Amino acid sequence: MIGVLALQGGFREHMEVLAMLELEACEVRTREELMRPELIGLIIPGGESTVMLKFIDEFGLRSAICARAQHPEFTMYGTCAGLILLAKEVPNLKGEPLGLLDVTVERNAYGRQLDSFITDFGSFIRAPKITRVGENVEVIMEHEGLPVLVRSGNIWGSTFHPELVGNVEIHRKIF
Ligand code: GLN
Repeated sequence: MIGVLALQGGFREHMEVLAMLELEACEVRTREELMRPELIGLIIPGGESTVMLKFIDEFGLRSAICARAQHPEFTMYGTCAGLILLAKEVPNLKGEPLGLLDVTVERNAYGRQLDSFITDFGSFIRAPKITRVGENVEVIMEHEGLPVLVRSGNIWGSTFHPELVGNVEIHRKIF
């Protein structure tokens, strides 16, 4: 069973992709739901990272997410705002990210002209840029010379949304 953090943002589209792949999934809003033993992974969707971070802390989910991430067989995947939350350093985020993925991420980094755009593998919506990749982080996909899908063991993050263009391949690879 794969959990999709459903506090805010685009969690429904991730549920749909998991359904297309015939992977069992459930929405996660509480500590209890996050700690369910049948859960083998968690998706943190896109949305607004500042708002989602506030809810994570208000609902007491931070320590549970971090505890789950310590287990190498528990897979986590953050898209866009989800990646921002998983990152170690986000200079322009109000609040402390979860720090589970050793990358530096700059929010809203594409500037006004190129605010949002679509590629064949996903959409970039007020997307962040990964500006530093730590030693133990693998770059799995690049777009125009920038890392857009990265992985550190069981923790994955993408700056784009595969789920918004019906691309199931990233989820298939990860889960
Ligand atoms: N710009 C948003 C943020 O900084 C991320 C946008 C997204 O998730 N598509 O949180």
